[in-house]
Amino acid sequence: TETLRGADSAVADAIAAELDRQQNQIELIASENIVSKAVLEAQGSVLTNKYAEGYPGRRYYQGCAPSDSVETLAIERAKQMFNCGFANVQPHSGAQANGAVMLALTKPGDTILGMSLDAGGHLTHGAKPAMSGKWFNAVQYGVRPDDHLIDFDQVETLAREHKPKLIIAGGSAYPRHIDFARFRAIADEVGALLMVDMAHFAGLVAAGEHPTPFGHAHVVTTTTHKTLRGPRGGMVLTDDEAIAKKINSAVFPGLQGGPLMHVIAAKAVAFGEALQPEFKTYAKAVIENAKALAGKLKERGADLVAGGTDTHLALIDLRPLGVTGKDADEALERSAITCNKNGIPFDPLPPIKTSGIRVGSPAGTTRGFGVAEFREIGDMIADVLDGLRDKGEHGDPAVEADVKARVRALCARFPIYP
Ligand code: PLP
Repeated sequence: TETLRGADSAVADAIAAELDRQQNQIELIASENIVSKAVLEAQGSVLTNKYAEGYPGRRYYQGCAPSDSVETLAIERAKQMFNCGFANVQPHSGAQANGAVMLALTKPGDTILGMSLDAGGHLTHGAKPAMSGKWFNAVQYGVRPDDHLIDFDQVETLAREHKPKLIIAGGSAYPRHIDFARFRAIADEVGALLMVDMAHFAGLVAAGEHPTPFGHAHVVTTTTHKTLRGPRGGMVLTDDEAIAKKINSAVFPGLQGGPLMHVIAAKAVAFGEALQPEFKTYAKAVIENAKALAGKLKERGADLVAGGTDTHLALIDLRPLGVTGKDADEALERSAITCNKNGIPFDPLPPIKTSGIRVGSPAGTTRGFGVAEFREIGDMIADVLDGLRDKGEHGDPAVEADVKARVRALCARFPIYP
């Protein structure tokens, strides 16, 4: 960073400000994490200079021996982590991984069946504004109004009626385990392929702390930067050799050009970390901490979508507190607690307002917060929300200042890059 500061102080300032932000606020965005220094170093390496189109041993450029080594390490570690037969570690992101599966296994105009955004699905699962919603006949399932669990009767009915080519399970704001076997039975009945997008909970699967989609899904996609705690990126995995071949062609040359070899190196490092026994301890703590935070918010008057969480995230229904998601995430941001507003199932408010917030434990757990700290964070959040309820949409400045000071003190005890 000394070199960067000398060369470009404007960018160096922005990065320094981001480090300060990460150090001094509490990160509750469920899709974020804090990578190790080793991951940062690999990602910031000279591998960014290299073109390595193709795959290990089959490149379109010379000089790829080190790239081959690094990509092979990433692939072998990915396979070991998930106990599966094939991994493509080149997708630049989770969206690219999902796009590659669609390119490999479907044609434009085909029917796909995925979870709707408002039930907790992802844009890439057939949402209207996304390619998956524009280029496919995208049918969407949701959750049940009473318990917010996936409505399998609806999945079954829609699958029988629309005969999708591809069924997608997984989401961005679904706090409970997903019954992969049930999805597979439906897929088999209607002749569909099953894709599980485990982006959010992949790290928990790797640690053996969450049911695995392998053995059920035909193909599995993930991001590498959420609970898995690697660099931003994506990955496609499968046990099916015929699908594996199609995935490789779909990622390159189908969808992408040169792989980001520096990111693949960082993926290899992160996967190596995830294979260590400490990662299991981490994943266990992530789940315990999410339960502790959600439990405290419930004690303080909020409702929990789906009644709670089995994973790293909880979706908090703020309606009992008379507060909107938008007002809440802004007030929390002022108080140095970062999360995102999130629609709840059957949300009466539009997506720019929402009735909920999504909170997650992966980043806080990485810096060392345990159950006591997450319960304290729950109290801080509830204090801010009470301020909004009592004082209106601009909140209570005194409470927010007090919470900000408590956040600072807590963060000082748990430095992120000691
Ligand atoms: N799939 C799911 C379930 C996600 O939650 C996300 C990201 O939030 C993605 C895919 C997309 O990943 P990316 O943002 O890396 O494109």
